[in-house]
Formats: sequence, structure tokens, C-alpha cells
Amino acid sequence: AVVGRPNVGKSSLVNALARRRVSIVEPTPGVTRDRVVTPMAHAGRAFELMDTGGIGMEDGTPITAGVQRQIEAAIAAADLILFVLDVRDGVTALDEKVAARLRRARRPPAAATSAGGPARSRAVLLVANKVDTSAFDPGAAELFRLGFGEPLRVSALQRLGLQDLLDAIVARLPAHDGSPPRAPGLRI
Ligand code: GDP
Ligand code: MG
Repeated sequence: AVVGRPNVGKSSLVNALARRRVSIVEPTPGVTRDRVVTPMAHAGRAFELMDTGGIGMEDGTPITAGVQRQIEAAIAAADLILFVLDVRDGVTALDEKVAARLRRARRPPAAATSAGGPARSRAVLLVANKVDTSAFDPGAAELFRLGFGEPLRVSALQRLGLQDLLDAIVARLPAHDGSPPRAPGLRI
């Protein structure tokens, strides 16, 4: 599931990854109304990409509440969350709210894990979008302090970094039997 505050480029990224237009892109924040799920295949793995932009963004919904509902829907439905930010804006107050919720979702409490068998954990990939040129971008460096590791730098518009992002997605998908990926050093 692709999450993030309005206008960071979630729908653009879904379209760029899917190589076709499946999600509505608008300069107006909150324009994606429906949950869009796109079947994807990369490196021998099949998965579904979900644009959550419209969930909870009914007319009149305060943006913060709408984004909050997107995150809850993504956490409930997704094995892997792509947390998208706009590198040109750095980290905004709303990005901080999203980050705080995702941090709690990322690791189930140890007690719950041992008591209830393998609890579902959500891997989070931090994606810095709108990196349209290779020029040093202070926004990307700032994203590191969110605590989700080094951001993957992409440009949905210029189609940059998309193969690396697809590789990273596939590497973090759970195995077919539902167990987490075993690659060393991955944060799951
Ligand atoms: P969403 O609300 O997060 O789904 O964002 P959208 O995909 O609707 O995009 C919001 C705006 O950002 C649109 O005007 C897009 O054209 C623009 N945008 C998206 N990706 C990029 C990018 O990589 N570079 C630049 N410069 N603009 C982008
Ligand atoms: Mg959208």
C-alpha cells in the first residue's frame, strides 16, 4: 500500500510503477477517491499495489483525519507500506503524524508475537518522490531522521529510481507461506 499525505505523488508513483494510468493524478490535494489496487509482477513475484490516497478523503473530511484513515486501511490490508514524501517539502507536520503511526505499526509488541504466534508485521519503505534531478537535495537527507532508514529516491514524473524501488518492494514482501523475508539486515 502506498501511503502519505496528499500531493506527495502517491497516485503518480502507482501509475509510474504500473506503467499505465490506473490512478487519478491531480494538482488538487485529496483528489483520489477510490481505493485503487493494481496487479503487479516483478522479478518473478506477483503482488498488488494499492493507492490509498482517496480513503477517508470524502468531501469535507479534514485532511489529517483522511490521511489517518488511509494509514489505518493500509495497515489493515497491506504486507508492505510505501511511505511517500515530497523531497521538495522535506518533512512536514502531517508527514510526522504519518511517521508516528507507521512506527507503531512496524513492529508488533514482543509479548504479542510470542503469545499469539507470528504476528503480522508491516515493513515500511521510505520513498522520497520528486527527486527529478541528481542534484543534491537537502530534503532527502532530512528524511533519514524519520527512522525508516535511507529513503529510496525516485521521480514518478521522470521515471527515475523505479527499478530500484521495485527490487526493494520484492525483497521485502513476505514469502509465499506468509513468513517474513529472510534477507539479512532488512528491517521488517
Ligand atoms: P497524491 O495526492 O499523493 O496522489 O499526488 P499526485 O500523484 O496526485 O501528484 C500531486 C502532484 O505532484 C501532481 O501535480 C503531480 O504531477 C506532481 N508529481 C508527482 N510526482 C512527481 C515527481 O516525481 N516530480 C514532480 N516534479 N512532480 C510530481
Ligand atoms: Mg492521489
